[in-house]
Amino acid sequence: MSGFLQISEPGESQIKDACASARVVGIDLGTTNSLVATVIGGLPRALVVDDEGHKLLPSAVEYLASGDSPIVGARALADAPVNPVDTIVSVKRFMGRGPSDTETTRRFTPYHFATQTGPVVRFVVAGGREVTPVEVSADILRALRLRAEAELGGPLDGAVITVPAYFDDAQRQATRDAGRIAGLEVLRLLNEPTAAALAYGLDKRSEGTFAVYDLGGGTFDISILKLSAGIFEVRATGGDTALGGDDFDRALAEVALKRAGIDGGKLTPAEQRSLLHAARACKHALTESHTATLALPPGGTVNSLDITRADLDAAIAPVIVRTGGSCRRALKDAGLTAADLDGVILVGGATRVPAVRAFVREQFGREPLGDIDPDEVVALGAAVQADLLAGPGSVSSANGEAPLLLDVAPLSLGLEMMGGVVERIIPRNSPVPTGVKQTFTTYADNQTGFDLHVVQGERETAAECRSLARFQLKGIPPMPAGMARLEVTFLVDADGILHITAREETSGRESSIDVKPSYGLTDEEVERMLLESYEHAAEDVRARSLADARVEGNSILSATRSALARDGQSLLSVDERAKIDEAVNALDNALRGEDVGAMRRLVEALDLASKDFAQRRMDQGLTRAVTGRSVGDVEKNLEPSK
Ligand code: ADP
Ligand code: MG
Repeated sequence: MSGFLQISEPGESQIKDACASARVVGIDLGTTNSLVATVIGGLPRALVVDDEGHKLLPSAVEYLASGDSPIVGARALADAPVNPVDTIVSVKRFMGRGPSDTETTRRFTPYHFATQTGPVVRFVVAGGREVTPVEVSADILRALRLRAEAELGGPLDGAVITVPAYFDDAQRQATRDAGRIAGLEVLRLLNEPTAAALAYGLDKRSEGTFAVYDLGGGTFDISILKLSAGIFEVRATGGDTALGGDDFDRALAEVALKRAGIDGGKLTPAEQRSLLHAARACKHALTESHTATLALPPGGTVNSLDITRADLDAAIAPVIVRTGGSCRRALKDAGLTAADLDGVILVGGATRVPAVRAFVREQFGREPLGDIDPDEVVALGAAVQADLLAGPGSVSSANGEAPLLLDVAPLSLGLEMMGGVVERIIPRNSPVPTGVKQTFTTYADNQTGFDLHVVQGERETAAECRSLARFQLKGIPPMPAGMARLEVTFLVDADGILHITAREETSGRESSIDVKPSYGLTDEEVERMLLESYEHAAEDVRARSLADARVEGNSILSATRSALARDGQSLLSVDERAKIDEAVNALDNALRGEDVGAMRRLVEALDLASKDFAQRRMDQGLTRAVTGRSVGDVEKNLEPSK
């Protein structure tokens, strides 16, 4: 350790104190960007996730041929144009989905998919390795976990992860598994709109009805939340999974190509990507100012264009208008009109665009709530929920009763009946947790068992719904048709996971199943991934010690620098000063690299080089303290320590 006293940054010690009881976080696992937040001193705060101080971690994972831990975040995103096959972006779209589900998505993605994969999508990445969406998401979550742990100074006790309100069981289960594989204790999955409402503290009001308008990179979600007697309920959800800020980029890029007289079809994929990138940068600039320039690919008549906010507004108007239909439908589903609402919350980076805000204002006839950063609001709300779940020691539960959060079942749950039709047992948008009992009977004489097929979806036939599970109830005594009485209970728990029990009343026979939605990964596969993640634990430890070494190195550097600035001139010879400067520079360089060993060595070297200097500063400090006082005073002060 260095000879200099170390005083932590303001705020840093506060973080550690606040987390002394339970280190819990909220995570917004987004399609485009992900964030991690925690409650500090009663307030939720997003944590920094990279060395540049950003709080948004792009949801991009680049797999390496070497088999080393993948690169996650901005660096991976930057590599996507050059390494499109190994760099997975927007993996959230594939969560809980099978290969057939992605048929449409596939045309627009550059990925290589494994053939004959069974029920789950597998990306083939560098070195021929196959990864599932659950593993890719786990890599994003792991990166967030490691950062949060470095930031909070210890292992996390738990996390609340948010999911879109429309996520079905398979997608929720996949998210939960990703959390486990990333080494997180998943306390709860929380719907994104509910998280946003929590961040606004809307649970503190006694009642109200709110719309949450969430426009992200590639998805649009609208939700209607109802709060009554401190209880939150998601009343309706809707949206479009292929609509978002990325469409603004495309619309703007098209305008630019047209104006510059460039044939978009002739651009190489790399040029297309860089044009989209330029369009996005221009769009971001136009959120703050009224004009911006857009850089164009070579080959046209001009290199760049001046774009006004009005140009952007005109280009994106058709995209924005498409959100209106979903809003009206969601209100209708909830049995409300815009006038019945008590507030509208803006969520998602794309709601920063002034034209979007104007549209929402007009659509709902009121000024939307947008003063919490729309990028962060979901993660902040998840942090509040995590804090509530962390128990009585936590900050927010100390000052009031914890709100009971209710969400809705996003899609109807039912059973297949004779003839393949679906009997809906839990209708879509039912608040959960919920339980419903229904009684059925036999179709044929002397039937001794029931085949139960659980499905999810809004279609009338089982074939068109998503099959969740099949199970059987056997061994009931032979009876004439219509005599057996089968009571089926559907229970959806607070995480939106379904538990089903079937009981034949005359015989008392019972059978039950937890759906464990069949999104494709078997328990064994999840276990294997968990094991692999333990094998990767060594790498995690390495990442952690890198973070620790950086923190230590940087604090010694800054302590040394400020000591040099104060006393370097008076206490050091030119020679001594040069030696310390050299050690400072060497450490500074090492801290920019990845070599933990070098960092530690150079910390020690600096410690050694500055030892005499530190001693002299202490002596000088003592002399100053003694000067001007009688020896008696000093001795008196020293006495208690004898
Ligand atoms: P997701 O929920 O899909 O992860 P985000 O909420 O992070 O997405 O939103 C990402 C979108 O927000 C992108 O299309 C991005 O270009 C857009 N965005 C972010 N900041 C701004 C800004 N300042 N102005 C306009 N659009 C923005
Ligand atoms: Mg989002």
